[in-house]
Amino acid sequence: MIIVMKPDSKEKDIESISRLLEKLGLGVHISKGTQRTIIGVIGDKNLLRDIPLDLLPGVEKLVPIVESYKLASKTFKPEPSVIEIDGVKIGGSELVMIAGPCAVENPEQIMETARKVKEAGAKILRGGTFKPRTSPYSFQGLEEEGLKMMKDAKEATGLLLLTEVTSERALEIADKYVDMFQIGARNAQNFQLLREVGRSRKPVVYKRGPSQTIEEWLNAAEYIMSEGNYNVILCERGIRTFETATRFTLDVSAVPVIKSLSHLPIIVDPSHAAGKAQYVAPLARAAIAAGADGLIVEVHPNPMCALSDASQQITPDLFSDLCKDIRGIAPLLGRTFTAAC
Ligand code: PEP
Ligand code: MN
Repeated sequence: MIIVMKPDSKEKDIESISRLLEKLGLGVHISKGTQRTIIGVIGDKNLLRDIPLDLLPGVEKLVPIVESYKLASKTFKPEPSVIEIDGVKIGGSELVMIAGPCAVENPEQIMETARKVKEAGAKILRGGTFKPRTSPYSFQGLEEEGLKMMKDAKEATGLLLLTEVTSERALEIADKYVDMFQIGARNAQNFQLLREVGRSRKPVVYKRGPSQTIEEWLNAAEYIMSEGNYNVILCERGIRTFETATRFTLDVSAVPVIKSLSHLPIIVDPSHAAGKAQYVAPLARAAIAAGADGLIVEVHPNPMCALSDASQQITPDLFSDLCKDIRGIAPLLGRTFTAAC
């Protein structure tokens, strides 16, 4: 349930309602909008059975939340969430580019990629260091060694760092190096891992599982948020359909659907959806046109020789061209996109 306060409600009204709810053992989430404050109530609403909340000073109305997810819901927080990491804002008017190789392979590869994607307009460097591969015999990632290489690239370029975490151990190690965590599609319903990243306060790029409905995705995001980490960025990366021409099918409609159901930012990964480099840029442009807050793109200096996802990684030059396209499209959509140079 949410308690919508009157536009002229006093701070002390909000405080006394919050205290009352907390005393009853309920969770309280306050969302201050431009017009009104909304108090979100989490927990067993039966505890409020005998309390005439709607008669308390400052209260305008009580609204039940019909969705099974609460904290992620737009009813709970009507204003879009903007997640800020060291001055980079995701979910505001500025589009954000995250780019880098599927996996960190060696110091030269990650440094060269970092310098080039920064020049093209990326603000965040991605790099897999714990790789969830289909086969246990495929390259599994450089783990902490790879994270050290990413840190050097950050020092040289100022890019923020993002890596996927696949376990509690990976999370503990990555926490020493990166600014943001990624939960990959294969772990989209690993609720224990979602709770673990929920206990951190670092932003989480949370990818949709290939077979997850939007409702299941938002419910799973709630696992992160219910632990207190509201810095969740949803990422559409393609779902499984009968189509085999692409690796997955990019669900572009997930972007406006999420925007109508949730206040969380949503970005799109065209690389894993396409599975082929030639489709990455068109899908990326479609995602931005549909209202995505940014993109996460796999970029490798020499894709043919990549140790993972070789067929879908694009060169820094192609990434730079894509950024130019996005710069052209952004103003048509009321967005901005500023490159470093
Ligand atoms: C990745 O980002 O490298 C990755 C493995 O993506 P996904 O979880 O979307 O397959
Ligand atoms: Mn990949």
